[in-house]
Amino acid sequence: MPRLIAALTDLLDAGSVRVPSAAQLQDSTEARGVLGRADAWVTPDSTASVARVLAWCNEHDVAVTPRGGGTGFAGGAVPLDGGVVLSLERMTAVRALEPLRWRMCVEAGLTTAHVRRLARENGLLFPPDPGAAEVSQIGGNIATNAGGPHTFKYGVTGRWVSGIEAVLADGQVITLGGPISKDVAGYDLRGLLIGSEGTLAVVTAAWLRLVPAPEAALPVVGLYDDTDSGVAAIERVIASGLAVAALEYLDAATIALAGHGFPGAVAKTGSFMVIAEADGSAAEAARLADEVAHALGEGASALHEPRARAEIEALWRWRDGVSNLVSARLGGKVSEDIVVPFERLGEAVTATLEIGARHDLAACSWGHAGDGNLHATFLVAPGDADALERARAAGEELFATAVSLGGSVSGEHGLGWVKRGQLERQWGPAALDLHDAVKKIFDPRGILNPGKKLSRR
Ligand SMILES: Cc1cc2nc3c(=O)[nH]c(=O)nc-3n(C[C@H](O)[C@H](O)[C@H](O)COP(=O)(O)OP(=O)(O)OC[C@H]3O[C@@H](n4cnc5c(N)ncnc54)[C@H](O)[C@@H]3O)c2cc1C
Repeated sequence: MPRLIAALTDLLDAGSVRVPSAAQLQDSTEARGVLGRADAWVTPDSTASVARVLAWCNEHDVAVTPRGGGTGFAGGAVPLDGGVVLSLERMTAVRALEPLRWRMCVEAGLTTAHVRRLARENGLLFPPDPGAAEVSQIGGNIATNAGGPHTFKYGVTGRWVSGIEAVLADGQVITLGGPISKDVAGYDLRGLLIGSEGTLAVVTAAWLRLVPAPEAALPVVGLYDDTDSGVAAIERVIASGLAVAALEYLDAATIALAGHGFPGAVAKTGSFMVIAEADGSAAEAARLADEVAHALGEGASALHEPRARAEIEALWRWRDGVSNLVSARLGGKVSEDIVVPFERLGEAVTATLEIGARHDLAACSWGHAGDGNLHATFLVAPGDADALERARAAGEELFATAVSLGGSVSGEHGLGWVKRGQLERQWGPAALDLHDAVKKIFDPRGILNPGKKLSRR
């Protein structure tokens, strides 16, 4: 659509407007066959340019899909039916770095890993650690309220965002909060934007809270002969009041797919793995790790306690790569992110395998045990339309199971496109109406990420 490109080029500079490539029309749902269509790809380099693009698109009824690193698992950054993809990749300025005040203000396009490195270089920690941190952006993390392994102790991204600068659909710039740790003056509009998946506003910058980096972080890995013993160990850690930073699990099927890369003597195979990490001062972490080893050791067939820094880094590198190792078996997967009360984890792990078997799909799960958050996964070869359809049907059963166990259809990735309408399973009509009304107030013409985060089918 040359007319659109010409109009956008008038608003920005010529180098900031392109026709999108195929890779720019996909995200991590690519293997599920989610492929979008857009007329233009724009890369504004300032809040003022984002505002100009949105004001123009709103006036001309052109859809805008905000895009971060494109690592999302819900198809949220995939443009469905033309319009403009607004990529934040050039908005990478660090507007303020104040280590002595434990905070920084960064633009939305900075990668998660960059933010974490900046914090670490200053003796601080930005705790959110979603698995694709080298590519995902802070804006994308805020828009999905991303979690990660250390969410168990430190909470999800939103807990670390004290202020947001964003551009509304009509081009107005708003600032909510700032370098302050408390703010109860108005309705929590900042909280509303966190996790809104690009459907309410485009996040352009954020004030982030930091904490002093723990002196030591010591993982303990337990291996169990069956799911029940592993789940019992997780519950023992929690019931003993052991405030570990991370509490992760892998089921037997995941270990079979990804265990070969495990950097340790145990666990090339096994039936259930638990990874806990104790952090704090060196003395606190060592004491807590001992107590965790005691709690995990009961009923374990093996324990692994890496202590050299390189070994610990290798363990987390492997854990971050589990998603890719699982995909490697057939070349693709449909991985959902259901969440249940943590004491129902064992039931959800078993249900995932049973649902997979009913639909003739290899299944497995791993995830954030302490949060009751499963990456419940069905293996699918890319292009296998029949298997994809069976995985879709399996997903429906999985979501019903999560809700029946008292949980939610999404603990991390959001609804995006692939889970549109699933909110209906867990919210009543009055709450769904409020959800829809919020969208209408923020974006009356419906130009922001249309088709995404829909409450009803
Ligand atoms: C290997 C791997 C591991 C992962 N591990 C985790 C994990 O542990 N925890 C977890 O939570 N997720 C995880 N994810 C999913 C993904 O990394 C997160 O959802 C991440 O927050 C997405 O960030 P992004 O910048 O890539 O966003 P994108 O994929 O580009 O976009 C995601 C959504 O946010 C919107 N958006 C993006 N930027 C903005 C903005 N500036 N303003 C408004 N809306 C915006 C988009 O429109 C879209 O709806 C993983 C993904 C991969 C591939």
